[in-house]
Amino acid sequence: MDVDFLPSCFGDPALQLATTLVVNNHLAVDAGCLGFADAETQAAVSDVVLTHAHMDHVATLPFYAVNRLQDGLGPARIHAPADVLEMVREGLFNDRLWPDLERLSTPEEPLIEFHELPIDAAVGIGGIELVAVPLTHVIPTFGYLLLEPGCSVVVATDTRDTDLIWERAAARDDLAGVFVEASFPESLAELADASGHLTPAGLARQLDKINRPVRAIAVHLKPSYREEILAEIAALGRETVEVGLPGTTYTF
Ligand SMILES: [Zn+2]
Ligand SMILES: [Zn+2]
Repeated sequence: MDVDFLPSCFGDPALQLATTLVVNNHLAVDAGCLGFADAETQAAVSDVVLTHAHMDHVATLPFYAVNRLQDGLGPARIHAPADVLEMVREGLFNDRLWPDLERLSTPEEPLIEFHELPIDAAVGIGGIELVAVPLTHVIPTFGYLLLEPGCSVVVATDTRDTDLIWERAAARDDLAGVFVEASFPESLAELADASGHLTPAGLARQLDKINRPVRAIAVHLKPSYREEILAEIAALGRETVEVGLPGTTYTF
């Protein structure tokens, strides 16, 4: 499985300002920066699944949707559990922040498609199977198990301490890697918890729930604290933990 960690900063490319991971070129997890990617990347993405409705995860969804229409590629297909879809419809495609593309659709010419995902059940989308598993953030948020024959990868952002997704991860004999957030340094542990995020120590606690070493890629580092978080991740002394670099393709 190939996972492209899309860049989201026009300045320092190491900084992550928004979240989009593209799986096997066809499935995007989140659209924080998808709509700013090159035309070829956007055209290849047939489906988008959303973790939650925070702006760093959905900000460019309107641009992606319109880019597809303007390029004659058909409507964007957006997938998420019901609570997330409701927030995106009411908060974003609401005829205020952006036109309500569902209202403007006709049966002959749909402009956007919203598909409700079941929770904790496998479905096939964009060429792979995936499972939405609830995380523990400040609004309804889901992690994803991405499943290919003989290879599974977990995406767990944004979350504070949580259990179910790590139970599901531990149960996969073919678990090849996890993307897990580390938003704040230890000096801001209280803020991390209050805002539903993890510090490096929290990341380590989550990985311990898997009960065996697995490749872990730390993502969602808040740019202002990146150096501090990098030092704290290094101090964990875990060979299996690496810091995600936007612009990188991760192969599992
Ligand atoms: Zn969030
Ligand atoms: Zn976020």
